[in-house]
Amino acid sequence: MGLPIRWALTACLALAIATSLCAGEALAWGNDGHRVVALIARHYIDQDPQVAQAVDDLLAGPTDPALPVSTFAELATWADVYRASTPKRRAATHLWHFIDIDVQAPNATQACFGTVTLAPGKLASSGPARDCVVDKINQFRSELADASLPASERKLALLYLLHFVGDVHQPLHAAERNKDGGGNAVPVVLGANAWGLPLHSYWDDNVVHSLGGTPDAIANALIADITPAKRKTWTSGAPAGQALAWANESFPVARDYAYAKLPSKTRTCKISDRNGPPKTPDCFVIDTVYANAASIQGRVQLEKAGVRLASVIIQSLRPPP
Ligand SMILES: [Zn+2]
Repeated sequence: MGLPIRWALTACLALAIATSLCAGEALAWGNDGHRVVALIARHYIDQDPQVAQAVDDLLAGPTDPALPVSTFAELATWADVYRASTPKRRAATHLWHFIDIDVQAPNATQACFGTVTLAPGKLASSGPARDCVVDKINQFRSELADASLPASERKLALLYLLHFVGDVHQPLHAAERNKDGGGNAVPVVLGANAWGLPLHSYWDDNVVHSLGGTPDAIANALIADITPAKRKTWTSGAPAGQALAWANESFPVARDYAYAKLPSKTRTCKISDRNGPPKTPDCFVIDTVYANAASIQGRVQLEKAGVRLASVIIQSLRPPP
């Protein structure tokens, strides 16, 4: 996760604890999680050279905001960088990154702000602000497959899909409890550390880094796990229902693991607050049982995300026979 995002998170957590103002706010797999998803997807896309070329043609040229190295894997973090680049962009796009289904009263339609439809002729990149990751995946997927649209919009569609297919597989992007913003307001602490972190952040970053060193190393290890049979199962179903089905798979991982398996033990930890001295809430103490279960679940979620991202892109960009 890049520094600006972590700063935003710290401020948000402090606010969330103090005022619940950040309920509904959620971040993303950390940057490395998104890179892993993209690297897995690219592995399968590269098996279809025509699609790989179509991807590279669409992504050619600068992005705004620019990323330091605009490889396919780096571009998977573009949507977070864009969201953080100005308050206006944040307001316009931040809800698109998640669908916070309440674990105590699950209702995906409600979590997606009711039934949202794009006005005829309206481009998905232009709104509406109150929409969720499931709808945005569906909208951008349609745009990516529509060669009659401007290349600039299809590039945005690809950039958003690169990110959002990852997001919908982060379990805490598909669930919340007590309006905690997908675990952003739940402090946890590791080992003997004095400083804690949000549960959401633990799943964004720590779970990913439990799987290996670099994003390339993690992606290669995960690709080795993925069989043709798994790919077939994970990409089944009609395209129009897939994004919701993926959220509905992430949801029980959050409910039954991320939340339900939190250890009962708590202790005070420090949570930084850029507006004042650190907060010192009671923090759940992450133990090895929790960490191991989270690692196993996170691994499968990243594998599914990579396979499904590839499938969305290949289906959308494969030239007609
Ligand atoms: Zn995101």
